Amino acid sequence: MRQLTFLEKGKLEWRDVPEPALEGGGEALVKPLVVATCDLDLWLARGKLPYEGELPIGHEGVAEVIDVGDAVSSVKPGDLVSVPFQVACGECHACSRGRTGNCERVGRMATYGLPIGENHGGFLSDAVRVPFADAMLLAVPDGIEPEAIASLSDNIPDAWRSVGPQLEQDPGSELLVCGGAGSIALYAVAIAVALGAGRVDFAGGGGRDRELAERLGANVLEPEFPERLGPYPITVDFSASHEGLACALRSTAPDGICTVNAIYFEQSTPLPMLEMYTKGIRLHTGRVHARPAMERALDLVREGRFQPELVTGERAGWDDAAEAFSAHDSKLVISR
Ligand SMILES: [Zn+2]
Ligand SMILES: [Zn+2]
Repeated sequence: MRQLTFLEKGKLEWRDVPEPALEGGGEALVKPLVVATCDLDLWLARGKLPYEGELPIGHEGVAEVIDVGDAVSSVKPGDLVSVPFQVACGECHACSRGRTGNCERVGRMATYGLPIGENHGGFLSDAVRVPFADAMLLAVPDGIEPEAIASLSDNIPDAWRSVGPQLEQDPGSELLVCGGAGSIALYAVAIAVALGAGRVDFAGGGGRDRELAERLGANVLEPEFPERLGPYPITVDFSASHEGLACALRSTAPDGICTVNAIYFEQSTPLPMLEMYTKGIRLHTGRVHARPAMERALDLVREGRFQPELVTGERAGWDDAAEAFSAHDSKLVISR
């Protein structure tokens, strides 16, 4: 089968690789139909990730089920499914508590199409093997366009977890999103508005992100991060910059929570610890536990409260994926 492989900045190649086969009764094979680029893919395409090597690419998408093992009961061939980017069993100690990103029955950080952790192949290929199919696959409800929810595998649930549980705990709260280059901040704005945040302020971010944030309902502040804003009971940092991170933390109200979705690829990162201590700020960072959050985000789409298609930008056909991926500049959706 054909599989798109990332080689280096600006260079990808379709390769012929052996087609995966079912390796157990609880598994499924799926054929990706629509694939979106994750914010990390943009970094990869631009050579900004500290990574060298060849990588089967793509880890956000909607697929058609093409085969299932005897023990699979929730999906059948022909079904449209969203496939989480993380491989998880759904039953171990961590999974049963919703922490599917740290499943204990797979290798550390087992994911599709990513240069970190155990790699299970990329979605830009003709077939993908899904272990634990009943626990992993999420059926796409009728009436929802696969293109609209291509990012439900990763970036959309990543956005949901940064504002959803926080707004459930503190309904109607005002919220600060520190943006950067990437879609997750924009999904977070849209989800926070859908969940009834009192106000969503958006600081930082590039031109397109700032325009989109405003269209999605945010109150857009300055492009540069000041020392502090607010204060806000809920803050989120997507900036991947020291200024954005410090601004988010210093802008968090006493006993508030700051979620840091941005990845800081460095050994240590400065934090305003004294201010955090004196105000009692909770800082949470880490990878999303995608599978449970996918359902919550999909509910918002189904209810018509969240339109993720407003965030995506470029489009490309499957055969143009190599060129489109290496040159993409916004959230790219590749369709068969
Ligand atoms: Zn990703
Ligand atoms: Zn597990």
